[in-house]
Amino acid sequence: MLLLALPLAVAVWTFGNYAARRERSNADQRLAAGLTAAAGAYRNELAGAARRARRLAGTEPVQRTFFGGRGGNLRRIEREQGNVKLVRGTSPGSSPPSAAARTVPVVARGHTVGWVVALVPFDRGTVARLTEAAGLAEGQRLAIARGSRLILATSTEMVEARSRLGHAGDLRAGGLGYRAVAMPLNGRAGTELLALQRRSDIEAAASSARWPIIGVGFGLIAALLAIAYSLAPAIARSRVTRQQRDQAEHVLDHVGDGIFLVDHEGLVRLWNPAAEAITGLRAGAVCNRPAAETIPDWAQIAALVPVASKPGDRGGALGAETVPLDIADEELWLSIVGVSLADGTVYAFRDVTRERRLEELRSEFVATISHELRTPLASLHGAALTLREHGEGLDDWTRHELLDMIAVQSRRLADLIEEILVTGQLDSGTLRVVSEAFDAEELVWNVASTTRLRVGDETTIGVSIAPGLPQVTGDAERTRQVLTNLLDNAIKYSPDGGRIDIAVDREPEGERIRFMVRDEGLGIPLGEQERIFEKFYRLDPNQRRGIGGSGLGLYICRELVRSMNGRIWVRSDPGEGAIFVFELPVAERVPAPASSYAAS
Ligand code: ADP
Repeated sequence: MLLLALPLAVAVWTFGNYAARRERSNADQRLAAGLTAAAGAYRNELAGAARRARRLAGTEPVQRTFFGGRGGNLRRIEREQGNVKLVRGTSPGSSPPSAAARTVPVVARGHTVGWVVALVPFDRGTVARLTEAAGLAEGQRLAIARGSRLILATSTEMVEARSRLGHAGDLRAGGLGYRAVAMPLNGRAGTELLALQRRSDIEAAASSARWPIIGVGFGLIAALLAIAYSLAPAIARSRVTRQQRDQAEHVLDHVGDGIFLVDHEGLVRLWNPAAEAITGLRAGAVCNRPAAETIPDWAQIAALVPVASKPGDRGGALGAETVPLDIADEELWLSIVGVSLADGTVYAFRDVTRERRLEELRSEFVATISHELRTPLASLHGAALTLREHGEGLDDWTRHELLDMIAVQSRRLADLIEEILVTGQLDSGTLRVVSEAFDAEELVWNVASTTRLRVGDETTIGVSIAPGLPQVTGDAERTRQVLTNLLDNAIKYSPDGGRIDIAVDREPEGERIRFMVRDEGLGIPLGEQERIFEKFYRLDPNQRRGIGGSGLGLYICRELVRSMNGRIWVRSDPGEGAIFVFELPVAERVPAPASSYAAS
C-alpha cells in the first residue's frame, strides 16, 4: 500500500509546485501586459507633448516673443505652460536627460527664430499619469528607472539589487522585493519603464495555488490509505476464501472417487470428473437436472445408501453400500456413501466392479475347488476300500486299474494343491523365479515325452523345433510348469482327442524364443480370449461339459511368463481348436550349436 502511496504523494507534490510555477508565470505575463499598456500610455504622452509644442510654436504671442527677442517673456511663458522649454536661435540644443522631449521650430516671417521643446519628465507625476492611463491589474505598479534610481508614482527609491531583466526578473528597492518587466524609454541608455509587482504578493498567490492542491491531494491519499487499510483484511479474507475454493475445486477435479451433490429438490448440483469417468455420464448431461431422471434407478439406490450427518460419522451410517448401476447395458458396482449438508447431500462413490467380479469368481472357485477336491478324494477312497476289502479276490487287471486310478487321482489332487499354493505365493509376491540360460529344445522334448505317457491313443502329440535355437533366459522349471499346463489344457479341452502340436522357434525380430501349443479341441470365443488368463476365470464354471478345473492354470501361466520378462496370448476360432503362444527372451550368449531340425 505504501508503495502505491509514495509515488502518489510525489505526484501530488509535483503537481502543487507546478500550479505555483504556473501562477508565477501568469503573474509575469500579467506584468508584461501591464507594461505594454503603460508603453501605449507613454507613447500618448509623447504625442501629447508634440501636439503641445506644435500648438505653442504656432501661437502669436510665442512667435512675437521670439521675434521681439525679450528673454523675460520666454521664461514667463515657460512657467505658465510648464514642462516646456523655449530655445532661441537656429539650433534647439540638446534636450535634458531627465525627460523625453518633442521639439518644434518656431517660424516667423519665413525664419526659424527658435524652438519649442515640450518635455515628458521622468518623474513621479509622469509615472502617476501613466499608471492611471495604463489601467494596471491589481497589485501592479509602474516605475521609471534611471540609473540606480527607481521613480515610483509616490516615491523615489534606490535600486538595491536587480537581476538581469529580460522577459522578467527580480528587483529590490526601498527594502522591498519586486518582480519586474522593463523596456527602454526613447532609446535612452539607463532609462527604462518598468511594470512591478511585489514579490510577496506573487508568492502569496503561488502559495494559494499550491497548497489547496497539495492539501486536497494528500487528503485524498490519506483517505485512500484509510480505505485500503480498512478493506485490506476483507480483501485478504476473500482472497483466502477464493484460494480455498480453487483448492477445493482442484481436489474435486483430481480425486479418484466420484463425487456428486444432490440438493433438497433432488437436482444434481455437482458432478466431478471422476464421476464422469466411472459412470460415463457427462457433467453437462447430469448437472442441474433431477437425479431421478439422469442416474439410472436413483430412487432405489438413494434408499439403500447410508447418509451420515457429518463426515466420518459412523453413528448414522454403517459404512458404504455397494449398489449396482446399469449404464449402457453394462453393470457397474459402486461402493457409495452420503453425507448430508445444509444444501443437500454429497455422495462419494468408488468403482468396485472388479472387486465384485473377483468376489463372484472367488465364491465360484470355492464351489469348484470343493468339487475338484471331492471328486478325486471319492475315487481314492473308493479304490482304497475296494482294494482293502476285496484285494485278495480281485484279478490282476482290476487291481492294476484301481492302482492306476489311485495314481492319477492323487496326482490330480497334488496338482490342484500345487496350483493353490503357487497362486498364494504369486499373490503375496513370494514366488521364487530364477533367471538363467537353459536349452528350450531339451525342455520341450522332455515335457512332450512325459505327457505322451499320460494320453491315450486318440491323442497325438507332435513336436517341431526350429534348428539353431539359442538358449533362453528364464527359469527352466517354471517354463516346464507353463508348458505342462498348456499341454494339460490342450488335452483336457480336446475331449474327442486329436492332434496336439508343440512348436518352438525364434520370433521374427530374433529377440525372443516362441513356444506354441496347438490343439484341435473346443476353442475359445473371441470375447473370452483375454479373460481366461484372469484368476479363477473358467469358460464353463458349472462344468456342463464335465471338464473340471480351478480356473487358476492360465493365471499362473501368465504370471510366471511375465515374471520371466515374457508374454503369453491365445489365438482361437471356436470349434477349430486353440493356439497358446508364449515368448521368453533369448539368452545373451553365443547361440547353442545348431541342432538338426527335429520333429515327431
Ligand atoms: P482350468 O483349471 O479351468 O482349466 P485354466 O486357467 O487353465 O483353468 O483355464 C481357464 C479356462 O480357459 C478354462 O476353464 C477353459 O474354459 C479355457 N481353456 C483353457 N485352455 C483351453 C484350451 N486349450 N481350449 C479351450 N479352452 C481352454
